[in-house]
Amino acid sequence: MDTLTAKPVQEHYSFFQGVERNFDKAAQYTRFEPGILQQIKACNSVYSMRFPVRIGDQIEVIEAYRVQHSHHRLPCKGGIRYSMDVNQDEVMALASLMTYKCALVSVPFGGAKGGIKINPKKYSAFELEKITRRYASELIKKNFIGPGIDVPAPDYGTGSREMSWIADTYASMKPGDVDSLACITGKPVSQGGVRGRTEATGLGIFYGIRELLNVQEDMDKLGLPLGVEGKKVIVQGLGNVGYHAAKFFFDNGAIIVGLAEYEGGIYNANGLDIYKVVDFRKETGSILNYPGATNFTNSKDTLECECDILIPAALENVINGENAGRIKAKIVGEGANGPLTPDADEILAKKGVIVVPDMYLNAGGVTVSYFEWLKNLSHVRFGRMDKRFAENQYGSILHTVEGLTGKRVTDIERKQLLHGPDEVDLVYSGLEDTMITSYHEIREAYLNLNRSVDMRTAAFTVAINKVGGSYEELGIFP
Ligand code: NAD
Repeated sequence: MDTLTAKPVQEHYSFFQGVERNFDKAAQYTRFEPGILQQIKACNSVYSMRFPVRIGDQIEVIEAYRVQHSHHRLPCKGGIRYSMDVNQDEVMALASLMTYKCALVSVPFGGAKGGIKINPKKYSAFELEKITRRYASELIKKNFIGPGIDVPAPDYGTGSREMSWIADTYASMKPGDVDSLACITGKPVSQGGVRGRTEATGLGIFYGIRELLNVQEDMDKLGLPLGVEGKKVIVQGLGNVGYHAAKFFFDNGAIIVGLAEYEGGIYNANGLDIYKVVDFRKETGSILNYPGATNFTNSKDTLECECDILIPAALENVINGENAGRIKAKIVGEGANGPLTPDADEILAKKGVIVVPDMYLNAGGVTVSYFEWLKNLSHVRFGRMDKRFAENQYGSILHTVEGLTGKRVTDIERKQLLHGPDEVDLVYSGLEDTMITSYHEIREAYLNLNRSVDMRTAAFTVAINKVGGSYEELGIFP
């Protein structure tokens, strides 16, 4: 038995305390006085609510939360999750992670999070709409939502449908507010959403890990060749985040060797076709028994299989003191929020595993949400003003070059060269730039700390420096 797994580690702290623990670890490397650090850490506003909704012939009292962790930048921003695991501590932890995440990727928002303690699978679409609209009106009544106040987004158990219900509830309760669509992001494109938002978190995960895979020194340390091509990847969760992350790795030449869902997991060292697995699950209702793959009835066992990169993209605390020692991946990319406990972090660090932290790696969603918010406030689709202008310019340049050289490009090359940016091109490019820039900011902090800390601690120092710096700029401590 691996000595690291011989004695399960007892973790006696909550999710929020775990985040605070990580914060404290990093805070010692920053220059701020204790009072400022205390203010950065605290959750500014916690709204715990109960409201009745008629379900069938019964009235159900629904438990829900919205936490605004920091107001150092406004609006606040963070997803809304529907899950039976929702509780105040979890929402506080996730809200605080949002503050650090936004700071890390230079999205000018404070952190927030919301949650409704329900199992969405138990309700019809009509019932979910009633619960969602009631939750939205509770937020409106208490001034906990608005384009300049707090802008929610999708999270675990919610998607564009729920966001459009909230946008509609807000618009109907705030008639005449021309910016009302900016009260929420992750909306369908037909209702003010931005192209590229759905896949943004998964794509951001891909860009982030690709950047790591291109750093020679780190790959040498892990004994891996450079680049995405041929890397063996396991993904937990085939929801919005996990599916898109798996898809982008698959499309770019990685080998998806394992997939885990709540019903179990599958593994095939020769690779799984992500598109075919998803079709298979749609047909049979399960990923289990996918042809050629080994089944794991306990989904978590899949995480312990042989691979280069493990991406937990479903729930928090899935890798902890009990199973971290058995993880074989050389890179763990946190797709979900908080999938590793602090004990898991310590165990994986001792094993030399590089953990790419959630607050950086899954920031693609909030980055593109920021773009959506900008689009809603400017009331114009990205690319509308400059696409044709760019295409005309490229055409003139090409015409001149062809005239000077006497050579003509092929029709396919012409199409590519003359393509002006569409909204989705600009969103992908903004996301790629954000993920690359932030990766190198974290790496620089890591190098400045003489490689004495892990990547999460380095990321926290970058975030604390940004949030603390803005408190100082605001001069709000009389
Ligand atoms: P989702 O609801 O779309 O998908 C979650 C998936 O996990 C579902 O397919 C579900 O069946 C699966 N799952 C549930 N229990 C499981 C288990 N025990 N083992 C394996 N799979 C299980 O949610 P999502 O939006 O993909 O969010 C997933 C995580 O990513 C959450 O932690 C969320 O906070 C985080 N996140 C989401 C976004 C976003 O843009 N959606 C952004 C940042 C972070």
